[in-house]
Amino acid sequence: MIEKDISLLEIVTFGNPVLKKKAEKIQNIDQEIERLAKQMMHTMHAAPGIGLAAPQINRSIQLITIDISVGVKTQDQIILINPEIISQEGEDIMEEGCLSVPDVNEKITRPYRTVVRGTDLEGNEHIIEGEGLLSRVLCHEIDHLNGKLILDHLSPLKRSLLKKKLRKQSG
Ligand code: ZN
Repeated sequence: MIEKDISLLEIVTFGNPVLKKKAEKIQNIDQEIERLAKQMMHTMHAAPGIGLAAPQINRSIQLITIDISVGVKTQDQIILINPEIISQEGEDIMEEGCLSVPDVNEKITRPYRTVVRGTDLEGNEHIIEGEGLLSRVLCHEIDHLNGKLILDHLSPLKRSLLKKKLRKQSG
């Protein structure tokens, strides 16, 4: 099925209360969810970004899209519904940004390996084993579903400085 008219969604930024909310579990995978997932993948590629969570497009539901190849490899495209982390190990420090926190790139420690269980658009369960960058993106997007941003991983001092800066930008 080819959809020609996939429109871009608006990405909400720091200060929008939806980013602080815990997202609801999806009970029914209907056409609306299917369409939303495709629009999210499209919006993420256009940004460009390697991950997007539904709260970032103002929907407080447990849906994430990931593509660490940014549109190059179809097999890297991941759509996960109700993802949950089942195991994590190791440590990896890397600079990280977020489409909802513009102009902020900070070194953040994440597990080197993360295993996640979730459902695809057909309702099939998948286990995704992410290492390095994929582990990082999985953690980042699942953080969004729990109302957490990259700022919440920083020291209290750094966090308050950046929040001031971001409030000035958006105000
Ligand atoms: Zn983000």
